[in-house]
Amino acid sequence: MERTILITIIVILAGTYLLEVLLSVLNLRNSRKPMPAEIGDLYTPDKRTRQLQYQRTNIRFGILTNTIGLAFSLLMVCGGFAWLNNGLLSFTAVPLWHTLLFFVAYLALSNLVDLPASIYDTFYIEAKFGFNTTTPWTFAKDTVISFLLSLLMQCVLMTVLVLGWQWQPDWLWLSAWVVVSIIMVFLNLFYPKLIVPLFNKQTPLPEGELREAIEAFARKADFKVENIYVMDSSKRSTKANAYFTGFGKRKRIVLYDTLIAQLTTDEIVAVLSHEIGHEKHRHTLRALGSSLMKMLLLFVLLGVILRYDVFAAAIGCYPTFVSKFIVFMILYQPVSMILSVAGNVFSRRHEYQADAFAKEHGMGRQLVSSLKKMTVNDLGNPLPHPLTVFLTYSHPTLAERIRHLES
Ligand SMILES: [Zn+2]
Repeated sequence: MERTILITIIVILAGTYLLEVLLSVLNLRNSRKPMPAEIGDLYTPDKRTRQLQYQRTNIRFGILTNTIGLAFSLLMVCGGFAWLNNGLLSFTAVPLWHTLLFFVAYLALSNLVDLPASIYDTFYIEAKFGFNTTTPWTFAKDTVISFLLSLLMQCVLMTVLVLGWQWQPDWLWLSAWVVVSIIMVFLNLFYPKLIVPLFNKQTPLPEGELREAIEAFARKADFKVENIYVMDSSKRSTKANAYFTGFGKRKRIVLYDTLIAQLTTDEIVAVLSHEIGHEKHRHTLRALGSSLMKMLLLFVLLGVILRYDVFAAAIGCYPTFVSKFIVFMILYQPVSMILSVAGNVFSRRHEYQADAFAKEHGMGRQLVSSLKKMTVNDLGNPLPHPLTVFLTYSHPTLAERIRHLES
């Protein structure tokens, strides 16, 4: 049994890796196809060459980082986790402390393994193609803050799980789900106020031509302008974006300052109308609902695995809470992937709905030109392979969106 579990773990890790490599190869091949008619004029020949260089660099780099990631995971599974788990037992056998120590060590180690790739990506690849504006100081600050933040979240989650398990193993799925759901709703509501300020400044939309145009549109669409913010994302990258977050009184639309710099007033209003479309269709609320459901499934399955010590033994660990949790998280990967593919199907549908909202409000043509501009500025891939789109894209491709907007 132990052997079967170990083999399953290795097959899952290797399978995920091979799938990623396969998608990379398919994308490379697909990029040689002629451009669809809708976006035939998107790139000038020079820009297209640059876009292909950027795409190829990223694909090669992605394969390299995935290979490092696979090697690290295999090392951990074939001895690393056992060394950490069994070694820490000599410090403490109290499940909560043992689990928290384990996670502090593991997160520090895996962040350290990822760090060189992250530095190379920001200061070499992104810089080479003219996107990077991050200073080493900002990068260092971001790295430390995100590490501490993920550590905090992970420790809170593990505390909830260990205490829930010790209290009533049979009801772990419910106790953990209730507590984690409350935390998630809270984070969803206060994310812009608590988390975003650790990384970015958000300011209300300043007076001027843009604000007037937005106010005029917001009135038409029945949306409060006080909920629109500008974020100083230009301190990291020239890439542009906008997003909608929260619900009820806490909803807000965030426009990147880079978006405002690159697009015309009409185009910005079009992007905004798309985001308002998300709000009108309650997409964030639905996304939150579906993550809560996914969490429930995860806790139910976790409760089952935690009963059997054989899952810890499979990777050479003395049966502890955390070793079984780690094995569970690997075994859960295929389930998580299927759920994420299903989630992407819905997410792409939501994007079409938000686009349709913009179109109904007379912003279709402007939205098309803003999407084109953003893709070109970001050297976005205009020809992703259909399998990549199906499995991993939360947004439809540019050509598909334009086809819908112009139909
Ligand atoms: Zn959208």
